Amino acid sequence: MSDRRVFNIPIFVPHLGCPFDCVFCNQKHITGTQNTITSADVAKIIETHLKTLPEKDRYVEAAFFGGSFTGVDKKLQCELLGAAYEYIKNGKIDGIRISTRPDYVSEEILENLKNYGVTTIELGVQSMAEDVLAASCRGHGSVDVEKAVCLIKQYPFQLGLQMMTGLPKDTPEKSIFTANKLIALKPDFARIYPTLVVKDTYLEKQYKKGEYIPQTLDEAVSLCKKLLLMFSEANIPVVRIALMTTKEISPNGSVVAGPFHSSFRELVESSVYYDKIEKLLQGHKNKVAVIKVNEKEISKAVGNKRENIRKIYKNYGIRLKIQGNPILKKGEIVLV
Ligand code: SF4
Repeated sequence: MSDRRVFNIPIFVPHLGCPFDCVFCNQKHITGTQNTITSADVAKIIETHLKTLPEKDRYVEAAFFGGSFTGVDKKLQCELLGAAYEYIKNGKIDGIRISTRPDYVSEEILENLKNYGVTTIELGVQSMAEDVLAASCRGHGSVDVEKAVCLIKQYPFQLGLQMMTGLPKDTPEKSIFTANKLIALKPDFARIYPTLVVKDTYLEKQYKKGEYIPQTLDEAVSLCKKLLLMFSEANIPVVRIALMTTKEISPNGSVVAGPFHSSFRELVESSVYYDKIEKLLQGHKNKVAVIKVNEKEISKAVGNKRENIRKIYKNYGIRLKIQGNPILKKGEIVLV
C-alpha cells in the first residue's frame, strides 16, 4: 500500500450490540446516526463513496465505526461484513476496518473477522488506569486490553489503539501512563480523543451537577501535544486527534462542554511548531527572524490565527517570517 492514498469509507454502527453505557458516550449523537443499519445500507454507502474516490493508486477500507462491532448479534455482523466483503472480492475495495471493545475479542470472533476479509481492528482502550476505567463505567480493565492485543497480534490484522484524555478521575500523568502502556503494546497506529461532554450522557449530568470538570482547550492541546510526541518518537502514527467535527459534534449540535475546536489537531501540531521555533530562536539577537519549513506545513508553523507569530513577538520581541521549502521534511525547521 506504500504509494497508494488511503481512504476509509465510514459506515456508522450506532450503539448496536453495546450493552454498556460509558459515561461519555451517546453513540447516536457521536455518529450522527439514529437508525440501525442493514446490508443494503452498507452496499449503498460503499457505492456512493466509491464514486468520489480516485480510480487509481488508492487503498480503500470500508470502516465500521461507532458502537462495539464484535458485540453486534453475530447474524447481523456477518450480514454487514458480507456486504462489504463482496467489494473486496470484486476488487473495488482493499479491506475492512472495525472498531470494538477490548473485552469483545476472542479467537472465535477474530476467526470470523478474518474470514470476512477484515484487515484492521481498532480497540477503544480509552485509559489504562483502573480508576479512570471504573469512573468512566467502561466495564473492562486494563488486563482485557493486554489480552485482546496479544490475541489480535496472532492474526495478520493491522491494530489501532484509541485513548482518551480528560476522563473522570483522569490526570495528565495518567494519560501519559496510558500512552506509555499503549506504546509498549506496539500498535500499528493510535488515535487520541479529548473527552467532550455530549448531550444525553451520564457525563452531562455529572457536568451539570459540578461533579465533572472538563479539560480546557489549552489543557487538552498541551497534553495531546505531549502524547503526540510520545507516539511519534515510538514511530507509531497518530491517525486522528479529536473527534471529527460534524453537525452533531459541534457546539451547535450535541457538544455541551469540553475542549472542542474544529481544527483541534492543527492546534496541537502548531503548538509542536511553537516549541521548535522557540528553541531555534534561543540566543537570536536580531529583531527579525526568517525560518523555513516544509511548504505544506506553513500554516501549522504560523499557527491558528497567526498564534505562533504573535506569541514569538509578545514573548521575545522578534518579528517572525515563515517561508516554505519543498526540500525540508515535515516537522523540520531551519533558521535562514
Ligand atoms: S463501549 Fe463504546 S459504544 Fe459502548 S457505550 Fe462505551 S464507548 Fe459507547
